[in-house]
Amino acid sequence: MQYTDKALEHFMNPRNVGEISDADGIGMIGSEECGDMIKVWIKIANQRLVDVKYKVFGCPAAIASCSMMTELAMGKHVDDACELTDNQVAEALGGLPAHKYHCSNLAASALHKAIMNYVFKSPAKINTAVVTTLVDNNASGNLKSEHGLSLWLEYQDKRVLFDIGQTDLILRNAETLGVNIANTDAVVISHGHYDHTGGLKAVLNIASQATLLLHPEALKPKFSRKDNKTKMIGIHDSTKEIIHTFADKGRVIWTEMPTEVFPGLFITSRIPRITDFEDVESSFFVDKNCRKVDTLPDDQAMFFDSPKGLVVILGCAHAGIVNTLHYIVKLSGEKRIYAVIGGMHLLNASAERIEYTIDAIRQYNIQKIGMAHCTGSKAVEKFKSAFPNECFVCHVGKRIEL
Ligand SMILES: [Zn+2]
Ligand SMILES: [Zn+2]
Repeated sequence: MQYTDKALEHFMNPRNVGEISDADGIGMIGSEECGDMIKVWIKIANQRLVDVKYKVFGCPAAIASCSMMTELAMGKHVDDACELTDNQVAEALGGLPAHKYHCSNLAASALHKAIMNYVFKSPAKINTAVVTTLVDNNASGNLKSEHGLSLWLEYQDKRVLFDIGQTDLILRNAETLGVNIANTDAVVISHGHYDHTGGLKAVLNIASQATLLLHPEALKPKFSRKDNKTKMIGIHDSTKEIIHTFADKGRVIWTEMPTEVFPGLFITSRIPRITDFEDVESSFFVDKNCRKVDTLPDDQAMFFDSPKGLVVILGCAHAGIVNTLHYIVKLSGEKRIYAVIGGMHLLNASAERIEYTIDAIRQYNIQKIGMAHCTGSKAVEKFKSAFPNECFVCHVGKRIEL
């Protein structure tokens, strides 16, 4: 059998020859019998092959089968592209001369190698998330603590500051920990309390490229009342000025709705209150006379998916941890929660609320529970005895690889 017209046409006008400089996968295969060599580059978006290119050293059969392979593979889902066989490529060419079937018909095999290369690389790509505690109520060594929270998230190639702590302490701890605040791509504010926003002015001075994300209600006046004393606990006026200046420059994203910070990384926006055992403490108010309770509509959490399940980052979880987890599961469609890290604001919670919260966490089978800031020692102890292997505290300097 000689070459078919179709095979000759592909040999004369091979499609998609070349290489992809930023390929997601590369595969190479050679035939020792005749010395043919095929190298395939693939580009993948949303699990589909959006580009396939190759270079081939070989006979007309090898060139024609590479050309046909790219036509068959282009646009296919990765799983379907894996099903493509060398024989299917030959059939699509109307057949190949018999002696060419084995040595020169390796285009689909080279494609498989490129896909395998992509698959093995991609879990590492998705899985490169590290959370470092920059500010917390506790610290050790030469790191310093304050009542507040700031977490530094390295997510794929992005750097996100989640909350800022109460003062510019964040800058000193970051320096000690080797974190370069100037590299911040986004600053996310969980809610408008002073202990999460106080260092914002200092940070935005340095993180000049960052986008700021917060809920508009975070700017509202906020007060607390304890022992007959009223305290302003909202964002300082000077910090609000900076936020408005940033907004005027188009650098603020108001998270009035669930928002994607970077591909795969999300902010919940306002969290619906579903459970009957989680309530915002009655000591928070929106007026200085302390008549109108602040329900903290600005309270939001951040989350992303990982191969092991969702990772949830909390500020204070004023909306309630269980409300927050329920909502994130609903928003994401992912039922598995792998890790929850941050402030859990259970310091004044009733024993009953802590028990219900533990039950809910048990149902989600959460593997990593990193407690920080306002979780409260009573809750920390109960969590530790309920989840001895999963629980840990996030003092300043704690690094969690996810
Ligand atoms: Zn708070
Ligand atoms: Zn707080």
